[in-house]
Amino acid sequence: MKEETIKETDWEQEPTKVECDHDCDSCTEKCDEPVDFRAKLNEMSHVEKTIAVVSGKGGVGKSMVTSLLAVATRRRGYQTAILDADLTGPSIPKVFGLKERATQCDFGILPVLTETKIKVMSINLLIENETDPVVWRGPLIANTVKQFWTDVVWDQVDYMFIDMPPGTGDVPLTVFQSLPVDGIIIVASPQELVSMIVTKSVRMAEMMKIPIIGIVENMSYAICPGCHEPFYLFGKSHIEEVAAEHRLDILARIPIDPAYASACDDGTIEQVSTDVFSIVADRIIQWRKAQ
Ligand code: ADP
Repeated sequence: MKEETIKETDWEQEPTKVECDHDCDSCTEKCDEPVDFRAKLNEMSHVEKTIAVVSGKGGVGKSMVTSLLAVATRRRGYQTAILDADLTGPSIPKVFGLKERATQCDFGILPVLTETKIKVMSINLLIENETDPVVWRGPLIANTVKQFWTDVVWDQVDYMFIDMPPGTGDVPLTVFQSLPVDGIIIVASPQELVSMIVTKSVRMAEMMKIPIIGIVENMSYAICPGCHEPFYLFGKSHIEEVAAEHRLDILARIPIDPAYASACDDGTIEQVSTDVFSIVADRIIQWRKAQ
C-alpha cells in the first residue's frame, strides 16, 4: 500500500451539509423511520465492539482509564484501538508517547500504532503542532469524529475504546449520535459521586439507549507511603449508593498513584502495572460474550 503524509487541508473541512436539520417541530416531511445519523465504517475496517468512556467533567482521569483499559485488553491478546474523540483536550498520543503523524493510503487514514500495537487516532496525530488549540464549534468537532470512524482504516479491531468529550452537553451528545457505540463506561471522581453529575451521564446513556457496562471510581483513595493504609482524601466514598441508585456495576476503584501520573506525563502508560484494569478488561470480555 502506498503511504503518504496527510496535509491539513485533506481533513480540515466544513461540516457536511445534511438535508435534515434534526428539528422535527418545524419539519414538514413525514418520516416514519427513525433517522440514523451514524457515520458509516470505512469499507476496509472491521470493528467488533465500541466502548465509549465518559465522564461528567474534565480532569477526572477519563483518558487515563481509557488508555489503561486498552492496554489491559491488549495484554489479554485482543486487537485494541483508541479513537480519541476528546478533540479539545486530546491526551491519548502523549500518554502513549506517540510522536509521529498519521499517514494515509489509498483506502484512508492509517491509525498510528503504539509500542504494543494498539491502534490510535487523535486530532493531535493530524495537526502540525500538537500544542495548537482546537477551537472549533460543535458541528465541526462532530464531523471530525465522524471522519475518524469513516476515513480511518480500522483493520480488524476487537475492542475500540472511545475517549469521549467530557460532560453531557451538545458535543458529547452529537458524538454519541454519530458513532455506533455498543456500551458505556462511566468514570467519576469521588466529588462527582456526591453531585448530580453521574446521574446526568446515566440519563444521557438512557436517552441514547446504550447499555452502561459499569462505573469506575478514579482517585478513590491514596495509599499512605508510611503505614501503607488507604487514606480517603475526599471522605467516605459514595460509589455504592450511586451504583445502587442507578443499578450500575462497580468495575473498579482506582487509587491516586503517582506512578499513573508520571506514566501519563512520560508517555509510558504501556509499562504500568494493570492488575486492577485487567479485572475490568475481563468484565468487558464477559460483557461482549453475553451480547
Ligand atoms: P480527563 O481525561 O478526565 O480530562 P486525564 O485522564 O487526562 O483526565 O487525567 C488528568 C490528570 O490526572 C493526568 O495528568 C493524569 O495523569 C492524572 N491522573 C488521573 N488519574 C490518576 C490517578 N488515579 N492517579 C494519579 N494521577 C492520575
